[in-house]
Amino acid sequence: NQDSGSGAAGVWTGRDLRQDKPHSARMYDFYLGGKDNYPADREAAAKVVVAYPGIMVCARANRAFMHRATRHLAKRGIRQWLDIGTGIPTSPNLHEVAQTVAPDARVVYVDKDPVVLAHAQALLNSSDQGATAYIEADVLDPEAILAAPQLSATLDLSQPVALSLNALMHFVTDQQDPYGIVRRLLAELPSGSALALSHCTPDFDPATWQKVTDIYTGGGTPVRFRTKAEVEAFFEDLDLVEPGVEVAHRWHPDEDGARSHVTTGELTDAEVSLWVGVGLKP
Ligand code: SAH
Repeated sequence: NQDSGSGAAGVWTGRDLRQDKPHSARMYDFYLGGKDNYPADREAAAKVVVAYPGIMVCARANRAFMHRATRHLAKRGIRQWLDIGTGIPTSPNLHEVAQTVAPDARVVYVDKDPVVLAHAQALLNSSDQGATAYIEADVLDPEAILAAPQLSATLDLSQPVALSLNALMHFVTDQQDPYGIVRRLLAELPSGSALALSHCTPDFDPATWQKVTDIYTGGGTPVRFRTKAEVEAFFEDLDLVEPGVEVAHRWHPDEDGARSHVTTGELTDAEVSLWVGVGLKP
């Protein structure tokens, strides 16, 4: 395929994009109606859509939560973000949302997928007052993220940083120490920092989510969807912003500028199936 290894911006990355295998980032891009996906991705994503038609709603509700949480934190005075598991760029990206509130916002993006790297140019169009950077790294190796020169060049770790982990931690299995990873990252951030997190859950429809688990795992991507209590455990030692861990469309719905296309009143918890929350580091 002529597209192999290069992204929308035409950046040759020299990386094997493994178009023959489904990728979580490209399946998610498909749910959002994006075009950066290949037949193997669409085939796996179509199986998920059959098992769980709500996935398209879930993906949009997830994106809308990211917008609201980002604006909420920017209004609270946060000016720096570390966004891990960024995904294929989908406009508006986090820095674009943050910079509408705070033009001087600085955002470091991290993803392990070479497809996201290939498209990273769209993440680097910061405002002049702000800054953005991209790190290719795996959240399973938090030390590599913390040691990356792009991090220290872009963020001032003596000032509050929002750690943004949206639809990421369900790709980290229990054996991979999900809570230890989040604790390790937060340990480097000063008081006043924040965690904004969204996470798919089987709570409202366990049978369907077992099917989704089987489709991802069968495609080579292990997943671990978690209960409300398991998601709340990520916020241990943080002060949860009210209303605490909630279903995505019910977390500060009024702050949603994107409400026009995710009409909160029409969504069911089972369709959305995402626990979300924002916590502040004391
Ligand atoms: N955060 C975005 C995209 C979520 S899709 C949003 O909420 O809209 C999940 C993303 O996490 C994908 O881009 C995938 O490549 C990335 N990802 C999955 N496992 C990862 C890991 N171990 N380290 C870093 N990124 C990972």
